[in-house]
Amino acid sequence: MSGLDAFRTETREWLSENCPVSMRTPMLAADSDSASHDAKLWFERMTARGWTCPTWPEEYGGGGLSDDEATVLSEELARMSARPAMMNTGGTKMLGPVILEFGNDEQKRRFLPRIARGEIRWCQGYSEPGAGSDLAGLQTGAVLEGDEYVINGSKIWTSGADSADWIFCLVRTDPDAPKHDGISFILFDMKTPGVEVHPIRLISGVSPFCQTFFTDVRVPRSNLVGTPNEGWTIAKRLLQFERSMTAELGMNGAPPAARPSMEDLAKTYQGETDGRIANPVLRDAIVRHRMNVTALLSTTRRVEEERALSSGPSATSSMFKYYGTERNKERNDLLLSIMGTNALGWEGGGFSSDELTTTREWLRSRANSIEGGTSEVQLNVISKRVLGLPD
Ligand SMILES: Cc1cc2nc3c(=O)[nH]c(=O)nc-3n(C[C@H](O)[C@H](O)[C@H](O)COP(=O)(O)OP(=O)(O)OC[C@H]3O[C@@H](n4cnc5c(N)ncnc54)[C@H](O)[C@@H]3O)c2cc1C
Repeated sequence: MSGLDAFRTETREWLSENCPVSMRTPMLAADSDSASHDAKLWFERMTARGWTCPTWPEEYGGGGLSDDEATVLSEELARMSARPAMMNTGGTKMLGPVILEFGNDEQKRRFLPRIARGEIRWCQGYSEPGAGSDLAGLQTGAVLEGDEYVINGSKIWTSGADSADWIFCLVRTDPDAPKHDGISFILFDMKTPGVEVHPIRLISGVSPFCQTFFTDVRVPRSNLVGTPNEGWTIAKRLLQFERSMTAELGMNGAPPAARPSMEDLAKTYQGETDGRIANPVLRDAIVRHRMNVTALLSTTRRVEEERALSSGPSATSSMFKYYGTERNKERNDLLLSIMGTNALGWEGGGFSSDELTTTREWLRSRANSIEGGTSEVQLNVISKRVLGLPD
C-alpha cells in the first residue's frame, strides 16, 4: 500500500469516528447552526488535528499535510458529505494564506494559530462608498506618526463588522503615488478607539452588511503586513483566495443528503412520464446544467494539477469565480423553475421548509456574482491577465 493509500485509510477511519452524524450533510447558505453543539465538537476535533488548515505548517496550527494528502482529506470529507469544520472562513481561507505568504515571523506566530483555532472573527475592509469595482481608488488614509498609523475614512458593505473582532483593511499610505502604488494592508482590533460600526438594514429586515467609520484610529506600525505602499499585491492575492472560495459554490452539483435531487424535485413538482421528467425543456436544461458543472469540476482539477506545487491561485481564479457563480445562479434558477410559485415564499405557512430554503438560497445566489468583485470585473481580469488583451 502506498503512503497516500495508507493516509486515505487512516483518514477515512478517523473521520468516521470523529465527524458527528449531524455534520454529515453539506451546509446550506440558509443554515445558521455554526454554533450548535455538534458543529463545535466537529470544529474542536478538526482543530486538534490541524485539519481546519490542513497544509499550514504544524507550528502555526495547521496539519502539515502535503498537497496530495490535503486532496485526499478533502475527497474523504466530500465522500461523507461532511460540513466544513470552520468558524471563520475569512480567517482560514482568505487572510491566513496571505499572512503565510506576506507576513513576517512575528505576525505568523501571533495570528496564524489563533486563525486556525477560529479564535478571531475577521471582517474585510476593502470596499468604500466611492471604491467598489475600482477598488484601487480607495481613499481611507493612514498617516504614520511615530510607531503608529493614524487611520481616517470609511468602509462599506463590511460583512459581519458588527460581530467581528479584527479587520483586515486596505488603506492609502501615500496619497501622491499612482493609485495602485500608495496602498497598504493593515490589521487592527475592532475595539480600537475611533472605530464605529453602523449596520445597514436591508429590505428583508436583516443584513450582514455594515458601514464602518474610522476617526483617528491609532494602529501599531507592526500590524502592517508586507511593505508599506505595496499592499495592492497583497490585496489582489487575497481576492484570488476569496474568488477561488466563492467559485466552489458552482461545483455544488449534488444536493445535501437530506434534500431531494433536482431530478426528483422536477418529477415531484412537474410530473414524470415513464420514469423521466415529463417536461422535455426542463429535462434538457437540467442535463445541460449537470454537464456544465461536471466540466467545471474537471477543469478545476486539471488546473490544480497543472499548478501543483506552485504558489496557490492565480488570475484563473477569476475564470472559476465567474463561471462557478454563474453556475450556482443557474442551479438556483432551475430550482425556482421546478418549484414555481411554491418557491416564492419568504416565511409563514403554506410553504415547506425546503421551499422556503429554496427561495432564500435563490436570492442569496444573486450576490455571489457581486461579492469579491462582480462578474464584469472578472471578465475584465480574464481579458487582460489570461487572454492578454489590451486595456
Ligand atoms: C454579499 C456581499 C458581501 C460583501 N462583503 C464585503 C465585505 O465584507 N467587505 C468589502 O469590502 N466589500 C464587500 N462587498 C462589496 C463588494 O466587494 C462590492 O459590492 C463589489 O466589489 C462591487 O462594487 P460596488 O458595489 O461598489 O459596485 P460598482 O463598482 O459601483 O459597480 C456597479 C456595476 O457596474 C459594473 N462595473 C463597474 N466597473 C466596471 C468596469 N470597469 N467594467 C464593466 N463593468 C463595470 C459592475 O460590474 C456593477 O454591475 C460585498 C458585497 C456583497 C454582494
